[in-house]
Amino acid sequence: AAKVNGGRQQRYLPILDERATEHAELGAQLRTGLDDGQFFLVYQPIVELPGGRVSSVEALVRWRHPERGLVNPVEFVPVAEHNGLIVELGAWILRESCERLQAWRAELGPAAPERVSVNVSARQLSEPGFPALVATVLRETALPAACLTVEVTETAVFDSSTALDALRAVKALGVRIALDDFGTGHSSLGLLRTAPVDVLKVDKSFVDDVAGPGEQSVIATALIDVSNHLGLTAIAEGVETHEQADALYRMGYRYVQGYLFGRPSERPDFAALALAG
Ligand code: C2E
Ligand code: CA
Ligand code: CA
Ligand code: CA
Repeated sequence: AAKVNGGRQQRYLPILDERATEHAELGAQLRTGLDDGQFFLVYQPIVELPGGRVSSVEALVRWRHPERGLVNPVEFVPVAEHNGLIVELGAWILRESCERLQAWRAELGPAAPERVSVNVSARQLSEPGFPALVATVLRETALPAACLTVEVTETAVFDSSTALDALRAVKALGVRIALDDFGTGHSSLGLLRTAPVDVLKVDKSFVDDVAGPGEQSVIATALIDVSNHLGLTAIAEGVETHEQADALYRMGYRYVQGYLFGRPSERPDFAALALAG
């Protein structure tokens, strides 16, 4: 290895090595995981206030890894983005989500959620075939386009004309577009005018403090005002307490998501949830 000065690198480099090795290892295992069906989706309700009716669900990917057990998407989605497998994994996630909602619609009728929301990463969105993939999946699953929402982060669309074109093409199919984690990226209110956005997902970091003293909730207040003025639907993410839900409702939020209303699950119980809300 390289010559070391002061011992500082000695402690630092092995950690970097370890992380890089782990990254490479996970990356290689993603391929096997896809081939062996180790991925599955969980669904978290997005509910309407007051009353807690489930209006839609967000699909979130999970990896049942043969040695590591359940691996969190914050660990493997960036790896899949890095090695490009997110394109194939993302296509599977999209199809699986649409099939699942179709099955719920057939089984539950009007008690089924109206929409499924699917996270789409920057890399996936910039892939030339993305709008065509969405069209194909909708056709093959026979899911109405109005039943699908695509969630993208500000970072994915900011400064990328390819991503913006893709969003416009997807929106033209009749699919809704949600800006995820709003307020945490290169936030620019200007993006709300140029990007074809229907839904603003207000990040958990702005929801955490809404039940606290006045000035802590100014961002959450500003974002519901912006949404209302621009005719967008706002969804507050990461709602964990009744106090937060009450404060958000008083600010004007009508759609919320968070552990208070339901953790992500393979098979959420929509009826029980609506009563409990
Ligand atoms: P996200 O899209 O912002 O998803 C919300 C995350 O917050 C989820 O974590 C969810 O389980 C968690 N969450 C929901 N309610 C609460 C709450 O009340 N309190 C707390 N503490 N957390 C809450 P998860 O499932 O681990 O996903 C993390 C991130 O991984 C997602 O953030 C998204 O960026 C990415 N991800 C997950 N599934 C997919 C996917 O299918 N495709 C892509 N491209 N990315 C995904
Ligand atoms: Ca999301
Ligand atoms: Ca989010
Ligand atoms: Ca997030």
